[in-house]
Amino acid sequence: MPEQSSHNATASGPPRERREQRREPWTEEMAERSAPLVDSHCHLIFDRFAEDIDAVAERWRAAGVKALVHACVEPGEIGAIRAMADRFPEVRYAVGLHPLDAGLWQDDVPTVLREAAEADERVVAIGELGMDLFKASDIEQQTLALEAQLDLAEALDLPVIVHCRDAAAPMLTLLERRRDRGRRVRGVMHCWGGNPAEMKAFLDLGFFISFSGTVSFSKATQIHACARQVPEDRYMVETDCPFLAPVPRRGKRNEPAFVAHVARRVAALRACGVEEVRRVSSRNAAALFGLESLLS
Ligand SMILES: [Zn+2]
Repeated sequence: MPEQSSHNATASGPPRERREQRREPWTEEMAERSAPLVDSHCHLIFDRFAEDIDAVAERWRAAGVKALVHACVEPGEIGAIRAMADRFPEVRYAVGLHPLDAGLWQDDVPTVLREAAEADERVVAIGELGMDLFKASDIEQQTLALEAQLDLAEALDLPVIVHCRDAAAPMLTLLERRRDRGRRVRGVMHCWGGNPAEMKAFLDLGFFISFSGTVSFSKATQIHACARQVPEDRYMVETDCPFLAPVPRRGKRNEPAFVAHVARRVAALRACGVEEVRRVSSRNAAALFGLESLLS
C-alpha cells in the first residue's frame, strides 16, 4: 500500500534523500506515464493544511496534478487564497459567497468580488455560489446572494462554481428562468451528488459536472450512474479537500493528490482507462476555466 512507508522514512538520511523517500513511488510512476490532472475544486487555506502545505504540494505534483482551482467560501478568504496562488503557481481561484454563508451577505459584496476578480487574472470563476437546503433553510437569503453573483459572473464573462445540495429543483427553476430571459450562465456543478435526471437538466443548461470523492463511496449508486452517463466533453474531477476524502482515504484529511483516486474510480465506472479520464477531465476543466497554459 502506498502510504505506509512514508512515516518511517522521514527520520533518517540527509534532507534530499529524506524528501525522495517521503514521496509515494506509485504516484511518481503514475505521473510519469500519465496525462495531467486538474483538481477542479479545492480549499487549501484551512488550518488543516497550515503545518504541511509544502509536502501536500509535493504530493500533488508527484501525482501529476498540474492545475488546481481554489474555491472561495466568503470574501474574507480572498487575501489568503491570493497568497496561496502566489506561493504555488499552478493555483487558480474563484471568488464568491457560499450559500451556507449567505448570512454574511452585504450590499457591497458584489463590488468586493468584482474588484478582486478584475485585479487578478488568476481569478477564473465566481463561486462557490448556489443553494443548500440540507443544512440551511434561508432560501430567500441564499437566492439573493446567488442571483447577484450570477449577474456578476455574466458581467465579467466568468464561469460559476455551483454548490447545490438538496436543492436541485429550486436551483433548476432559477437557472431556467434566467435562461428564458436571455441571461447567460456557464459553469460547473461541483461535488456532484444528484441523480441522472437532475444531471441531464443541468447538462441541458450547459453545465459541466464535477465528481468528487463521493463517487468512490460504495452506496452512492446515483452518482455512479451519473459518472457512467455523463458525456465525455462535460465532466471533470475534484477533491473538495480537505473534505470528502475518496476511498481508500475515506475519513482522513483529503488533499489534491487524491484526485487521482477520483479519476481512477470514474474510469472504472465508465469502463475506460484512467489515462482517458485524466486527459478528458483535464481538457474539460481547462476549457471552462482557461487553464490551457498550465497543462501544456
Ligand atoms: Zn468547496
